[in-house]
Amino acid sequence: GQREATDLNALVEESLRLAYQGLRTKEKDFTAELSTELAPALPAVSVVPQDLSRVLINLFTNAFHAVQQRQRQSPDPAYRPAVTVSTQAVPGGVEIRIGDNGTGMPEKVKAKIFQPFFTTKPVGEGTGLGLSLSHDIVTTGHGGTLAVESEEDEGTQFVLTLPV
Ligand code: ADP
Ligand code: MG
Repeated sequence: GQREATDLNALVEESLRLAYQGLRTKEKDFTAELSTELAPALPAVSVVPQDLSRVLINLFTNAFHAVQQRQRQSPDPAYRPAVTVSTQAVPGGVEIRIGDNGTGMPEKVKAKIFQPFFTTKPVGEGTGLGLSLSHDIVTTGHGGTLAVESEEDEGTQFVLTLPV
């Protein structure tokens, strides 16, 4: 794929919709509250749109799995799955934050998530390749960074930055 000047807000919204619809096709009863906070005057960023879309879909799909898993495990009937995304201009680039109020991760898991084939999902449900591929696309492919913040039983936030 070729790099092109891309409207990241549009790519974010499209990827969120695709990931949500993808999951709801298989699990018709699943719903999550989605909230987006997209910066109005985000600078266009030069990216390979298909590659970045793949990263975003990976991150959103993981977020939906994490809230779904917490919902299944949660003793609290008032728990409501929520996935959030924001975009903002930062010095020298653009930042995309993808958050969920799902299971979160213990330190032991967090330390390994970018390794190829690392997964906590049952055999057949996860390849463990999503985040290692995503990390590679963001860093090697685009000169950006992909970081994670996570709290067990609270949720997770991925912070993706791309240079302008
Ligand atoms: P897969 O989804 O196939 O397991 P990934 O590379 O996408 O592979 O993710 C690796 C692991 O990282 C997951 O199995 C899970 O344990 C953890 N993980 C990723 N995203 C989240 C998230 N949003 N919340 C909690 N755990 C996550
Ligand atoms: Mg995944």
